[in-house]
This record gives sequence, C-alpha cells and structure tokens, in this order.
Amino acid sequence: MPKVAVSRARMTDGTLPPVCIVCGDAARHLLYPEAKAPGFAFDGVTALLSYLWFWITILSTSREPSQSAAGLPFCDQHEHYWRRRGWIIVGGPVITIVTVIIYAGRAKAGVVPDSEMDWMFFIVVGWILALLYVMLGSVRPTGGDARSLVLSGAHRDFVAAVEREQSGY
Ligand SMILES: [Zn+2]
Repeated sequence: MPKVAVSRARMTDGTLPPVCIVCGDAARHLLYPEAKAPGFAFDGVTALLSYLWFWITILSTSREPSQSAAGLPFCDQHEHYWRRRGWIIVGGPVITIVTVIIYAGRAKAGVVPDSEMDWMFFIVVGWILALLYVMLGSVRPTGGDARSLVLSGAHRDFVAAVEREQSGY
C-alpha cells in the first residue's frame, strides 16, 4: 500500500495539494487537522487497541465544517469516509461483544441449542475478519512525529502530488 509522509505544517496551514487522499479526485474539503497516528506499542492486544484508538478519536472529533481551513484533503464523495468507517470499526466490536454476552447468558441458562452456539462462533469470527479487513484496508495514519504524519493506503495521485511538491517542482 502506498505510504506518504505529510508535513504537519502544511496540514495546519491548509496548503496540501487539493487531491483526495482516498480516490485522487479534486478535493474541496480539508478535515482533521489534528489527525495523529496511534501512539501505543504495536504488539498483541495493544496493537488492536491502538488500531481502534485512531477511529475512536475520529468519532470523538466534533463534526467539522465542510470548508475547514486546515487538515487533509477529501473530495465530496469521501468527506465522511473516516467517520463512516469509524462507526463500523468501533461499533462492530461493541455489537459483537454485546451479542456474545447475551448469548453466553442464555447459554448458561441452558436456553440456547448447541447448533446456535456454533453459528454464533462463526458470526463472531466473521465479524473480526471483516473488521480487520476494513481497518487494514483504510487510508489511515500509521506513523509520524511532531513534524510529519505518515499516511498508509493513500491514493497514488495524492502521493504523487505531495512528492512532486516536496521535490521542489
Ligand atoms: Zn475521494
């Protein structure tokens, strides 16, 4: 997946190339000037939590005006891209955990047949795989520091536009 380091200064002053980071179309919206890569250690359970953390921060960011003057470029179609995916990625595990708890309670009470528990298992595994797929397949920050933000999965036209400018074109 294409990776690109984006200057934080240019995110803040709103001067990144107007190319959608998701699809490469003309971008009219600048969003999430404060976007950060998850800062936790990347191993085991913490890796999953750190992946989730980014999406939680996206959902907890107040709805920004569509003509915000700073941030990353998104086109009309992808203005809500991170927010929509955030709901799936954060909501998915919550729904899965609640469902499992309900089923576990019913199973304990002896009211769920075994065949239904088998289905439950496949549904949960399916959910986790689907979530990982959405999470890892999304354009998202995966690194960076005070001066730059590394975006993974960004569209190649955006990457090319950033690199062209950095090389002094
Ligand atoms: Zn787009």
